Amino acid sequence: MGTKGVEILGLDVNELIEMMNKALADEWLAYYQYWVGAKVIKGPMREAAAAELIEHANDELRHADMLANRIVQLGGTPVLSPHEWEEITNCGYASPEDPFVKKILEQNIEGEQCAIQVYNTILEKVKDKDPVTYEIVLEILTDEIEHEDDLQAVLEDIELMQRRD
Ligand code: FE
Ligand code: FE
Ligand code: MG
Repeated sequence: MGTKGVEILGLDVNELIEMMNKALADEWLAYYQYWVGAKVIKGPMREAAAAELIEHANDELRHADMLANRIVQLGGTPVLSPHEWEEITNCGYASPEDPFVKKILEQNIEGEQCAIQVYNTILEKVKDKDPVTYEIVLEILTDEIEHEDDLQAVLEDIELMQRRD
């Protein structure tokens, strides 16, 4: 990136790039977990749940794009091989072996909770030190908080639907 653009940063750029690459790996894994989850999901409110999963998959892909663009701007290289995703991920990958809607929702809620933690940590790091990255990460964090809330709402509706009293 431009020399002045790096000069104004009040932090260790390489450390920030590493954190952002780990988040980038998380986003690709989250993308696939949602995308394949939407294909295999079964059970009550399958269509509503699948629509939510597809929407979230698209958001995760957009997050990956935002992170990669900023990594390049910072003078870094976005993680180049999918083989590295599993090695550097913070939040891991939960494969939807059990296609039951509640199980898939729970797996993805756990992923979102991890993502919220990760982005909150990056936000603290760049706060008052790199306003451009701050804006990008804040936008992503805002989406992850909405994702968690949306998934918990679908899960709650399914549980209410199954209530017997
Ligand atoms: Fe995301
Ligand atoms: Fe998300
Ligand atoms: Mg949503």
